[in-house]
Amino acid sequence: MLNTMLDALKPDDQKSQKPDVEVFNQTENTPSSNTIELPPPQPEQLTLPVVPIREGVLFPSTESVLTFGRVISVEAIHEAKRTKNLVVLLSQKQPNLETPTQHDMYGVGTLAIVERTLSTEGQMNALVRGIGRVKVLNILSSHPQIMAKVEKLSDIYVNDDEMQALSTHLQKEFKRAVQMGKPVEFLNFMKLMSDLNNGELVDQIASTLNLETAEKQEILEILNVKERLQLVIKHLSKEMKILEIEKDVASKTQQKFDKNMRENVLRERVRVIQKELGDLDDEEEVITEYEDKLRHAKFPLEVRKKVEKEIRRIRQMSVNNPEAGYLRTWLDIVFELPWSKRTKGNIDLKKAALILNKNHYGLEEVKDRILEYISVMQLKQKNSGSAQISLPTILCFVGAPGVGKTSIGKSIAESLGRKFIKVSLGGVRDEAEIRGHRRTYVGAMPGKIISAMKQAKSMNPVFMLDEIDKLGSDFRGDPSSALLETLDPEQNKTFEDHYLDIPFDLSEVIFITTANTLDSIPPALRDRLEIIRYSGYTEEEKFHIAHDHLLDKVRKGNGLKPTLITLNDDQIKMIISRYTREAGVRNLERELNKVMRKAARQIAEGNKKKVDVTPAVIKDYLGPEKFDPTLTEKKDEVGLTTGLAWTSVGGEVLFIEVALTPGKGVIKLTGKLGDVMKESAQAALTYVHANAKKLGISESKISKSNIHIHIPEGAVPKDGPSAGVTMCTTIVSAFTNRTVKRQVAMTGEITLRGRVMRIGGLKEKSIAAHQAGCTTIIIPKDNERDLIEVPDSVKKDITFIPVEHVDEVLKIALN
Ligand code: ADP
Repeated sequence: MLNTMLDALKPDDQKSQKPDVEVFNQTENTPSSNTIELPPPQPEQLTLPVVPIREGVLFPSTESVLTFGRVISVEAIHEAKRTKNLVVLLSQKQPNLETPTQHDMYGVGTLAIVERTLSTEGQMNALVRGIGRVKVLNILSSHPQIMAKVEKLSDIYVNDDEMQALSTHLQKEFKRAVQMGKPVEFLNFMKLMSDLNNGELVDQIASTLNLETAEKQEILEILNVKERLQLVIKHLSKEMKILEIEKDVASKTQQKFDKNMRENVLRERVRVIQKELGDLDDEEEVITEYEDKLRHAKFPLEVRKKVEKEIRRIRQMSVNNPEAGYLRTWLDIVFELPWSKRTKGNIDLKKAALILNKNHYGLEEVKDRILEYISVMQLKQKNSGSAQISLPTILCFVGAPGVGKTSIGKSIAESLGRKFIKVSLGGVRDEAEIRGHRRTYVGAMPGKIISAMKQAKSMNPVFMLDEIDKLGSDFRGDPSSALLETLDPEQNKTFEDHYLDIPFDLSEVIFITTANTLDSIPPALRDRLEIIRYSGYTEEEKFHIAHDHLLDKVRKGNGLKPTLITLNDDQIKMIISRYTREAGVRNLERELNKVMRKAARQIAEGNKKKVDVTPAVIKDYLGPEKFDPTLTEKKDEVGLTTGLAWTSVGGEVLFIEVALTPGKGVIKLTGKLGDVMKESAQAALTYVHANAKKLGISESKISKSNIHIHIPEGAVPKDGPSAGVTMCTTIVSAFTNRTVKRQVAMTGEITLRGRVMRIGGLKEKSIAAHQAGCTTIIIPKDNERDLIEVPDSVKKDITFIPVEHVDEVLKIALN
C-alpha cells in the first residue's frame, strides 16, 4: 500500500514499469525549465469504461479507494480489469442519479488505473490512481457498463517567474495551513513537500481542499497550470481564513476552558486540604445528615416537600457549583427555624400581676392595661380549650427612651412563660430587610422577622418590634406594608419571606410594637395598634426605680457585693438631678453603672477596700455636674421666658429669647424651628402689633425695630404651636422692658385674637418643669381636664393656672 501510494505521487514519467501508464507517458507533456511553449501534441483517443462518481472529483496524480455498488460501476471495473486496467472517472452533476446519461456527467474526467480491487457483499472496493485528464467525445454504450470514447488532455505550462512564484506561494501557504490544523494525510503531505511538477502539486493540493464537486470540477477542467494555481491559491486562502477564525474561536474557548479547569483544579485542591484539616465534611456525609435531620424534623407538609426537593437538587449538583453553597445555607436556616416548637405556659393573671409588679416601680396605668390584655387572653384560652388562641390586639408602647417599654415587654413574656425577642426597625428603609432578599441575590439572607424567629427557637414568642415610628420608605419598597402583613392575624399565618420562599406561620406570636412618638407612624399601621402611653418619670419615681431596681442590677453587673459599696439616697437624688435630664431612666442607669464600674476598679486595684459614694466621689467619678439644679437661683430677665415643649424624648423646658435691634419691623427666627413654630411666632407678633396700645407699646417702636426670636439648643429640632403664649410674652417683655418671672413656665397655642388653645403632652411637660424647679405653670383652660394625669408629686410643688386669653398670661408672667 505504501509503495502504491508513493508510486501514485510520482511523476508519470517515472512509472515506466507499468505498461498501461506508458501509453500516456509517451504523450505526456513534461515541462522542462528551458521550454517556454511546446507545440500541442496530437491528442490521443481511447475507448474506455466509465465509472460515474456521485460526489467529488479524483484528481490526476492522487489515489483513492472507491466503493462501487451500482452494476454499471462494477461492470466498468470488470471491463477495465479485462483490458488495460484503465477507467475514466466522471463526476455526476447530481449525486442521486442512479443511471446517469452523458448530460448528467461532466464532460471532463480523470483517467485512472485500477490498482487493486476487493469485492464484498455485492460491493466492490477499488484502489484507483489518477493519471491524467480526459475529455469525453461521446458515449458509445451504457450497458452493462458505460463505454466512452475519450481524448486525453494535457496540462498547459507557461513556465515563467510568475508561475514559480505562484507555486512557491502555494506550497508555503499549504504548509502554513497544515500547521494551522488543516487535516491532511501525513504521507500525502510529505510527498507534497517533495519535488513535484507544478501541475501535480496543484492537483494534489486541490484534492485536499474542502470544496463542492462543481468547484473541484472547475479546477479539474483548467488545463493552464498557472490559472489552476491561481484558483487553488484562492480557495486555499479562503479555507485558511476560516481556519484562522476557527482557531481563534478555539483558542478563546480553550482559554475559557483552561480557566475553568484551573479554577476547578484549585477548588478541588482547596477541598482536599480542607478535608485533610478536618474543616470540611464529606459532601455525601453532609447530604446524608440533611436527610437524617429531615426524617426527624416535624415540618409542615409543604416545607417537607420543598426541603426534600432542595436536598435532591444539592445531591445532583457538582461540588464546585456555587449554588450548592447557597442551598446549604438555605437548608441550614430552614432546619434551624422552630416550625413545630412552642413553649407551653398557662396564662395566669395572678402570676402576671406579680411579675409585672416585682419588676417595675410605678407604671400603674400601663400595668393595668397589660393585665386587661392578659385577662382577655386567659378567657379566650379557657373558652377555646386550646393553648393556641388568636390574640386580642397588637399593643404599641409609646414613650421616650428608657421609660421601661422593653422591660415591660420582657415581663409579659415571663409571665406568659414565653420567649422574648426584640428587633429594632429604626432606620429600616428597605422592604427586603423585613421580608428578606430572594435567593437569587448574592449573599441573600432572610429578613429580620424570620431571623428573629430563628433566634426565638419557638413559634409563640413575645416579639417586640422596636421603634416602628422610625421606619423609612423609599424606592426599595415600603417596609411598613410588609410590617402590616406581619402583624395582620389574617395574613400572618402564611407569612412570606422572600429568602425562605415557603410560608411561615406567625399567628401564635404576640407582637408588641414600640415607638417614641405616634406622629410618624404610617396611619394604616397605627389603626391596627392599641396604644399604651408611657409618660416619663418624675424625679421621685426615678429615685424609687433607681433605689429598688437599678442599683441592685448595676451593682451585680459590676461584680460588687452590697458590703463593698454604699450609695445613700441623697447621692442617688444628686445623680438624678445633676447628672441626668430625661424622661426615662436610661441615662440614670448609665451613670449609676459608671459609678459602680469606677468603684469596682478602685477596689480591684487595691486602692480601696470599700467605696462610700459621697458627693465628692460622684464628682470624681462622673465629672462636673451636667445640669443646674433649678431655675430658682437665676435672675428674671427682660425678653427671656420659660417655655415647655414636648419632643419624642419626653417633655422639655425651653427658653425663648427676644432681642430688638433698630430696623424696620423685620422678624427673624433662629434655633432650628419647624414651620408651625415659625407661624406661631408670626401670629404672636401680629397680636402684639394689633394690641400695641393696650399693651403699652408705642407703634413707632414696633415699626422701627427688627425682632430676633431665638430658641437656644439649636441641635434639637422644635416644632408645634404650643410655644405661642411663650413667644407672645417674650415679645411683650422686650418691647415693654418688663422682666419675665423665670419660675413661671407656660404652654399654649395662641390665636390672632389672643385666645389660648389646648396643647398636648401636659403630663410630660409638667414633669420637665417640675424637674427644672418651676413653681407655676400657665396652661390653657381646655387642658384643665388633663391635670388628673399629672403625678401628685408634681402637683404638690407646682401651681397650675388655667387661662383662656394671653392677657391673663401677661398679667401673671410679667413683673
Ligand atoms: P425603653 O424600652 O422604654 O427604652 P427600657 O425598658 O430599656 O426602656 O428601660 C431602661 C432601663 O430602665 C431598664 O433597665 C429597665 O429595667 C429600667 N426601668 C425602666 N422603667 C422601670 C420601672 N418602672 N421600674 C423598674 N425599672 C425600670
